[in-house]
Amino acid sequence: MTELAYLPTIDDAYLRTFRARVVALPPGGVVLDRTYFYPTGGGQPCDYGTLSAAGVGSWEVVDVTKSGASVVHRLKASASVLHQLKVGLELEGSIDWERRERHMRLHTSQHVLSARIFARTGRRTRRASFAGVRATLDLEGPIPDTAWEELAADLREVAASGQPIRIRQVPRAEWDRNPLSARSGLVPLPPQVDPVRVIDIGSVDICPCGGTHLRTTTAMGGLELEPPTPLPDGGVRVAFRLGGGPAEGPSA
Ligand SMILES: [Zn+2]
Repeated sequence: MTELAYLPTIDDAYLRTFRARVVALPPGGVVLDRTYFYPTGGGQPCDYGTLSAAGVGSWEVVDVTKSGASVVHRLKASASVLHQLKVGLELEGSIDWERRERHMRLHTSQHVLSARIFARTGRRTRRASFAGVRATLDLEGPIPDTAWEELAADLREVAASGQPIRIRQVPRAEWDRNPLSARSGLVPLPPQVDPVRVIDIGSVDICPCGGTHLRTTTAMGGLELEPPTPLPDGGVRVAFRLGGGPAEGPSA
């Protein structure tokens, strides 16, 4: 089992280096007792970076996935090099910050855009995914052309207003009684999720999510919206790209 150390607070997603112990060595990979590497999931790609052990070696992390309750870090290394890794060895993890920060900006901006689309048009986001500097959101139905300029203005206003972002752990029964739980309309939570990790974005959005997010909306920076395109099922796809913005450094 791997402790997902990036989850508890917003600040935990700003840690770039950490120490952890090897607990299993599946072929080509390593499982740690704890990790700050985000494993692919929820539309968010995994983190990249390195794992290293003093006097032993350093290995590039090229993929991170969940396997049951464990997180597998896939390493770019030959089998003979991987034999240097042993269960119980302490490693230092270092996360590729530029990639992590891009995903935090995309993910936070997606929450804001989904919330504003819902507020202005009543359309829910069925699915969101992130790649490079671009996010795509699949909505359940079309939105009026006139909404588009308003949404672009909304994004600028939310970024400029510096809304604080925080994480709460909410008992499932309490969350299910909350009418705001349907506000931005992402996919239903699996029944076993309890408590619910809720991301609050100032007065803009309340949404359950397991991803990594920014500390404030200021760090979203500029965003370039792309016009909606129709999907075969009657929905529409909207997308945005990260523009210029204040880069944030890691806290350690
Ligand atoms: Zn999220």
